[in-house]
Amino acid sequence: MNQFTVTKEEKKKDTFLENKIKIKKPNSNYLANKGFLCFDMHTHSSASKDSILTPRKILKKCVKNNFNIATTDHNTIKGAIKLQHLIDTEIAFNKVKLIPGIEITTEQTAHIIVYFDKIEKLTEFYEAIIEPNYNKKKFKVELDVIETIKFGREFGGYVSIPHPFCKLTGIKKIKHLDEEEYIHEIDFIETFNSHTFKRDNIKAIKWAEKHKKPIVGGTDSHILRTYGKTITYNKSSTTKEFLENISKGDSKILGEFDKLRFTIPCVAFTESIHLIKGNPIHRINYARNNIKDKIKGKVSKNKKGMKIN
Ligand SMILES: [Zn+2]
Ligand SMILES: [Zn+2]
Repeated sequence: MNQFTVTKEEKKKDTFLENKIKIKKPNSNYLANKGFLCFDMHTHSSASKDSILTPRKILKKCVKNNFNIATTDHNTIKGAIKLQHLIDTEIAFNKVKLIPGIEITTEQTAHIIVYFDKIEKLTEFYEAIIEPNYNKKKFKVELDVIETIKFGREFGGYVSIPHPFCKLTGIKKIKHLDEEEYIHEIDFIETFNSHTFKRDNIKAIKWAEKHKKPIVGGTDSHILRTYGKTITYNKSSTTKEFLENISKGDSKILGEFDKLRFTIPCVAFTESIHLIKGNPIHRINYARNNIKDKIKGKVSKNKKGMKIN
């Protein structure tokens, strides 16, 4: 058993980190009336390569259910700009708060999210760092995770590690990368992602606990139905204060997992869009290398009695 092994008992639990994280449907209306700001901290729009959801539809849902969003499209800020524009110019949306962010696909395929308190800061970061290094064919930014984290912070962003234990896009799945190289440079760990297996979320909770890192949660929505089903909340009045409070350790998460009967078609849908718009050869090669590494791990386990990570 390694330090992140998840037991059957832990899998049955629905509260973690002394009630800071609860698996429960959030009632954003109730929390907003109590003075909390509620944000779904991980969302995608049609600007991402794997969603057809327009910013207008997203904002209508935010207004209806009284929650706010961090927008974290893959390697683009077009959706964030459009969302901010609608909030600034249309009365119907002017109460929605936006944390402009971006989910970066790094050279090692692991995802890194960088949040900003202002759209101008995100734009500056994007134009200086992400856009010049974006490789359209590979559907990734040609920066490794360490460089991405460093630049995110240099530009005044809050760096978060989404779904760290996800097999394909989690930072903890990068071979030969010592967490000591970056753990002190990150701001938040995503400990609840509705789109990720419960087991991998529990591992993320244990990891955050080990390093005493601030926590965030979100749905990783690509479709409207799941928007707002996981929220991060604290008592703040502005997005800056909200992010600062999280940094100080003041954040709670309420969330639900998506039902498998919905997750499977959704993942199939988003993956097929990745395949159409991204580079299929790269993704197939990645999966193949992953399997090869697993086989190598099994061989070394047999030879040296070592456990596969
Ligand atoms: Zn991701
Ligand atoms: Zn995502």
